[in-house]
Amino acid sequence: MSVAKNLEKLQRSIASYPCLLVAVSKTKPVEVLMEAYEAGVRDFGENKVQEMVDKHEQMPKDCKWHMIGHLQRNKVKYIIPFVHLIHAVDSARLLKEIEKQAEKEDRIVDCLLQIHIAEEQSKFGLSEEELFEILYSEMLAKAKYVQIKGLMGMATFTEDKQQVRREFKHLRQIFDKAKVDAHLPKNVNMQKLSIGMSGDYQIALEEGSTILRIGTTIFGSRN
Ligand SMILES: *Cc1c(COP(=O)(O)O)cnc(C)c1O
Repeated sequence: MSVAKNLEKLQRSIASYPCLLVAVSKTKPVEVLMEAYEAGVRDFGENKVQEMVDKHEQMPKDCKWHMIGHLQRNKVKYIIPFVHLIHAVDSARLLKEIEKQAEKEDRIVDCLLQIHIAEEQSKFGLSEEELFEILYSEMLAKAKYVQIKGLMGMATFTEDKQQVRREFKHLRQIFDKAKVDAHLPKNVNMQKLSIGMSGDYQIALEEGSTILRIGTTIFGSRN
């Protein structure tokens, strides 16, 4: 099936939810991204800095670039001039580097903090305790260029739908707790919850996702 057909089908299945669809285009060539662009997609998700920089240069300028993968501090500077949203901030040191580079560019940069919700050891992310440590940190209170817009998470890669739902519910609870916390600094606005991929987006929507990150369902499997 074509990218346009896949998108049409996907958009029909999520139409009743007010969420943003980020088309995860990692490993796919620009020609394929252009098919999605021509079908109306403007939000693209990438997980590698160099690949995102290259695609940003080649694609039309009204595309919005979402860094969804683990970001190394020494590569932050390459995406700061154009990135739309950094989904996976998972340490205070990374946030500090984003603030530093954003100041150099004189650009406000929106970020999500990644929470570890999966059972797997390998997945990145903060615990609830670490999240609130960052949210209450002096560094964040003083930051002028980073804006925390919400949280991101990845569920365990499993067929067990109950487990996936439990993990999303857990993240939603942390999200709701932070959302009503009146003591957080002004640059924290808990509005966005980035959960849901090809295998679990239905559950993510039911659990309150506001941003879906979907690759395979749109572009087919990756090599
Ligand atoms: C690759 C990736 C996705 C998209 O995965 P699909 O299963 O292809 O939809 C979403 N989020 C992150 C962080 C990813 O790395």
